[in-house]
Amino acid sequence: MTDEPTPAAADLPDLAPATRLVALGREPAAPGAQVGAPLVLTSTYHADGPVSYARSGNPTWSAFEVALGSLEGGDALVLASGMAAVSAAFALLPHGGTVVVPDAAYNGVMATVGDLEASGAAVVRRVDVTDTAAVVAALPGADLLWLESPTNPLLEVADLPALTAAAREHGVLTVVDNTFATPLLQRPLADGADVVVHSATKYLSGHSDVLLGAVVTAPTDSGRALHERLRRHRQLGGGIAGPMETWLALRGLRTLHLRLERACAGAADLAQRLAGHPAVTRVRYPGFGAIVSIEVVGGAEGAERVAAATAVWVHATSLGGVESLLERRRRQPNEPEKVPEELIRLSVGIEDVEDLWRDLSAALARARP
Ligand SMILES: *Cc1c(COP(=O)(O)O)cnc(C)c1O
Repeated sequence: MTDEPTPAAADLPDLAPATRLVALGREPAAPGAQVGAPLVLTSTYHADGPVSYARSGNPTWSAFEVALGSLEGGDALVLASGMAAVSAAFALLPHGGTVVVPDAAYNGVMATVGDLEASGAAVVRRVDVTDTAAVVAALPGADLLWLESPTNPLLEVADLPALTAAAREHGVLTVVDNTFATPLLQRPLADGADVVVHSATKYLSGHSDVLLGAVVTAPTDSGRALHERLRRHRQLGGGIAGPMETWLALRGLRTLHLRLERACAGAADLAQRLAGHPAVTRVRYPGFGAIVSIEVVGGAEGAERVAAATAVWVHATSLGGVESLLERRRRQPNEPEKVPEELIRLSVGIEDVEDLWRDLSAALARARP
């Protein structure tokens, strides 16, 4: 025994992401203290503490926020869903302000932007995010640049360092939806973004059992000011995350590195095999991540036949879980028209890749009528 206190993992510099995923968001080490993160179910707290009411704070939220914030290199706020995080970030836009958005991205974001435009709450400029010059040309006079990279489901990749630098020059805030890449593959704050948005429903929690979202802001003076506005939005908007959902997401987050490594390896392998399949007319795969989008022969009906014919792959919307999912995206009413009717989004899970291939290639044989 020594009198020196043991340092907490959170205080050790230079921990690798895999270690931070496992070690952060735990109670301080003390004899008899719990090792698991706290699941705190209470609506209120004894008076005169740091938090008085559970719409403002919860120890389970803090545990998740410490872990996610450290991975993204910023300060995280957990919210009830990815769309709650999207709404919080759009609340940073002044009324009547101008937002530059991808011409195709997550359909909930596209619908939100359309509603803001229709009500006169925002002016919207839609751009091809792969065309850096076109995005930069849309920035003068704008208030917010909304990016998603890779985009859902076209897997278009934006040049984040170039675009955030240009946005900063024009005094435009940059928000990046990092749901597809996760902080293990891309850290937008380090690339110059002001706010990161997550649907933690997907890879971060990883088991298709909760909806959850988060926003993360940079550890700078301007980032901290944005953080306070977002925190106030959460507290007053009131659509807060449940402690149980947050605890499950933190439990899932502990294995993000293992799940993602396996899913990414499977996606790279399948993307290559799919390119040689006679029923596949186009494979979209950005070279990283675990989503592959394919276009198939037989149009929308062909794609529906494929999606209905798998046994291992689950025919369902969503992505980022341990189980492989597939869906023809245009069956979603808000899906942008830039997404081809015959596009199937494949979310590669962590099953045996040979089983995935056998199941999918057999289903693809049904694409032709
Ligand atoms: C799913 C998703 C969202 C919305 O998240 P929810 O948790 O479903 O509300 C936002 N952005 C992207 C890129 C998504 O895939």
